[in-house]
Amino acid sequence: MSDGECRLCGSTEIDTIYRGHLREGRAGSATKEQHSVIRCGQCAVRFLGRPVRTDYSGVEYRVLVDGAASIDSFRETHDWEQATKLSWVGSRTLRDQVVCDVGCGGGAFLDLASGFSKETIGIEPMAGYHPFLEQNGHRAYSLCSDALQDWRGMVDVVVCFSVIEHVEDPAECSSRFLPTEESPGRTGRRPRA
Ligand SMILES: [Zn+2]
Repeated sequence: MSDGECRLCGSTEIDTIYRGHLREGRAGSATKEQHSVIRCGQCAVRFLGRPVRTDYSGVEYRVLVDGAASIDSFRETHDWEQATKLSWVGSRTLRDQVVCDVGCGGGAFLDLASGFSKETIGIEPMAGYHPFLEQNGHRAYSLCSDALQDWRGMVDVVVCFSVIEHVEDPAECSSRFLPTEESPGRTGRRPRA
C-alpha cells in the first residue's frame, strides 16, 4: 500500500486533517517532530501519515507514560483505571477462565482479574515488570509468540487495552488472538482512540 492510500481499505480518497506535534506518553508531553493525521473519506479511519516508532520494551516509554519506569509509578498511574475495565469485560466472563492480558504493563488488570480467574497470563514487552507479575501469581511473557508455546489452545479470554492503536498493523495484531476453531475463546479489545 502506498503513502497515498488508506492503510485500512486502500482508498485514495484521503485528506490530511492535522499537521503538528502529537502527544507522546502522558498528557503535556509532545513529540519533537511534527506529524500528519490522515482521514480516509471512504472508511473514515484516521491514521498517522508516518508511523511513530517506539521501543515498548525500554524504560524510556514507561517514563513518558508514567513519569518513571518503576512498578510503583505504573500502579499509581493505572490502578484506578482497572475497575472500569472490569465493568467492560464483566466479572462473570472471567470466572474460572484462563485470562491473558496482551500489553498488561505491571499487571494491574490481572491483579483484579485473578480473584475470578483460574490462570492469568501477562504479555508485556517491558521485562522489568515481569518479576512483579510473577510475584502476584501471573505468568509473564514478552511476546504473544512466547506465550503461545505454553498456552496454545488453552486461553479462554484475551483482553487488550490501549494497545492496538500503538501497533503498526492492527489487523495483523488482532488476528493473533481472535478466537479460532482450535481456540474458541472470547476477545475483549478497547482501543483508546
Ligand atoms: Zn479507508
